[in-house]
Amino acid sequence: MPCYHIWTIGCQMNKADSERIGSCLEQIGYQATTRAEEAEIIVLNSCVVRQSAENRVVNKLGALKSLKRGPQNPVLALTGCMVNCRVDGLRHRFPHVDLFFQPQAVEELGQFLAARGLASAPKPGSLLPLHPSPSTFVPIIEGCDNFCSYCIVPYRRGREKSRPIEDIVCEVRLLVERGTREITLLGQNVDSYGHDLPTRPDLARLLAELNQIDGLARIRFLTSHPKDMGERLIEAVAQLEKVCEHLSLPFQAGDDDILGAMRRGYSAEQYRALVKRIRDAIPGVALSTDVIVGFPGESKEQFDKTFDMLRELGFDTVHVACYSPRPGTIAARKLEDNVPFEEKRGRREKIEALQEAIAAEINRELLGQTLEILVEARKKGKWQGRTRTDKLVFFRDDGDHLGRLVKVKIEKTSPWALQGHLG
Ligand code: SAM
Ligand code: SF4
Repeated sequence: MPCYHIWTIGCQMNKADSERIGSCLEQIGYQATTRAEEAEIIVLNSCVVRQSAENRVVNKLGALKSLKRGPQNPVLALTGCMVNCRVDGLRHRFPHVDLFFQPQAVEELGQFLAARGLASAPKPGSLLPLHPSPSTFVPIIEGCDNFCSYCIVPYRRGREKSRPIEDIVCEVRLLVERGTREITLLGQNVDSYGHDLPTRPDLARLLAELNQIDGLARIRFLTSHPKDMGERLIEAVAQLEKVCEHLSLPFQAGDDDILGAMRRGYSAEQYRALVKRIRDAIPGVALSTDVIVGFPGESKEQFDKTFDMLRELGFDTVHVACYSPRPGTIAARKLEDNVPFEEKRGRREKIEALQEAIAAEINRELLGQTLEILVEARKKGKWQGRTRTDKLVFFRDDGDHLGRLVKVKIEKTSPWALQGHLG
């Protein structure tokens, strides 16, 4: 059987797109390989959110030139945030790439292969995996309308476009029939779901409909924008038994002038109040957040406000990034990238050290507790899964637990994961 190889970097959205590209290729006669040199088709799924990610894509494209020139001469396709609707520039820079397609147009890959006699044409609906993982991503809204000053996503992924509620419900039913127990609804700005649809459903309504699907055990969603997280959504998370107590709510900076320059649409005080409302309504909720350090003009005092806010609010997980100017964004055009890289790195490391201590303390509280885990995989003799609050848990057992909800008594904790035994 001919092989395909997919190389992915970036966020969960990219991972979800790669899963769908893989199932499309499998259903037209290809099988996955982890070795690019064995593949007839190589797909690179790119990220350009930071310069370092873009550099890795460019290096990978360069490294694949020799394979293209070799006897295998695989089809090379590029997708992800590097590809927008105008591909002439990319064609000129990377003439050895056969196809550029936007992630929302996966069918173009199947059509390209069919036109060259390399595969049969994909059937409608063939993007859904035949054997999905117990925990599967489901994109529900593409693009972003926010234009935060530092962010390239709206320029690459376009404006917000929600999928109709009936399509999502139908897709989730099918995934559950095929073995999925948990879904994560995805969007760059998932809590603005539905505003562009004729009947204007919202995420709370979608969650309520999905909550009724028999066989589905858990529902998550990410990423939420603080300015769009309303009371109906908080109440839905609190009330609907399948919706997990786990929210991803990036705040980006703790200083109001920096938040204003980032064009985030909320103040630090409003964010604090939102976290309080969420914690009051959803006991035991786990929160993760993103922050950027070294945004143009960020002084030591302004950075300290971000640091203090992280210490005060005590998140379960923090993703911290050094500011990276992205060509074409408002910040790159109007603001000087004037925090030296060494300083940015120092600020990032300071936050990482703080977060390690906070996560260690939060996880230590779980010692001795028996928690419900959805088992997702077995690696190196250990089963692994996640709690409703998204804690990674490992345990050893000889039984077959894949896709099952099991109880695990926690006997060891670290800032990153928990270990235990079936309880
Ligand atoms: N939509 C989400 C939000 O509102 O924050 C996040 C999506 S964004 C693609 C993922 C993360 O990448 C952001 O939370 C931010 O921390 C980081 N990011 C985006 N642009 C960046 C830039 N120019 N420099 C550094 N980090 C950046
Ligand atoms: Fe980027 Fe802001 Fe949209 Fe998130 S909300 S994807 S940070 S523009």
